[in-house]
Amino acid sequence: MLASPQDYVEEAQRFREAGWTAYKIHPVCRPQEDIAICTAVKRAVGESMVLMLDSMWSYGYEDAVRVGRAIQDLNFYWYEDPLAEDDLYGYTKLKTQLHIPILATEHLPGGLYAYTEWIRQQGTDMLRGDVALKGGVTPLVKIAHLAEAFRMKCEIHHGGNSLNNVANLHVTMAIPNCEYFEVLQPDAAQKHGLLEDIEVDGRGLVHAPTRPGLGYDIDWELINRNTVAELR
Ligand SMILES: [Mg+2]
Repeated sequence: MLASPQDYVEEAQRFREAGWTAYKIHPVCRPQEDIAICTAVKRAVGESMVLMLDSMWSYGYEDAVRVGRAIQDLNFYWYEDPLAEDDLYGYTKLKTQLHIPILATEHLPGGLYAYTEWIRQQGTDMLRGDVALKGGVTPLVKIAHLAEAFRMKCEIHHGGNSLNNVANLHVTMAIPNCEYFEVLQPDAAQKHGLLEDIEVDGRGLVHAPTRPGLGYDIDWELINRNTVAELR
């Protein structure tokens, strides 16, 4: 979260200048201010960047409708987690009021089997997950394949640290239905423990690892230097 709409504008412009093609807003989670942030960023970058909003489960139904209508008028690409993570009834109702694609299920309680009801009741347009929150590579692949069977996307969430991000990248590269690799900002704060890390290139792309296994080396010297005890 940033302090003012202008701070979001400057961040988006900075990434656009670095070649990135999409910018997702984590707003302050106060509906009117969130609309002001989204409007300011859209005015600044126009159609030159894909814009998304992730409201992080912060609205009640009425505000979710108000913000959703505002950002669909701004041609935002998706509307992520406006309502509480388990509010399937609210999401189903919300989807009848909006035509912007909704992305829920990042923190869906209940694992793989809970997704079936969200698909059946049409509570979300895309599925969401990552290796850390969903229990590893295999559960995430199952969720992605479930989405594929319904011709839905499975947009993968960032992993929270370097090694999880590498595992997410492998899943992303192995499925046809994830469009974006998420890079949480500030990027440097998410990077720790690998000798080299995933880097976004000058066209806003990340690339598949080319080596066996995860394809990135753990920085054992760093880990050993910071070891305080070993559990055996
Ligand atoms: Mg999110």
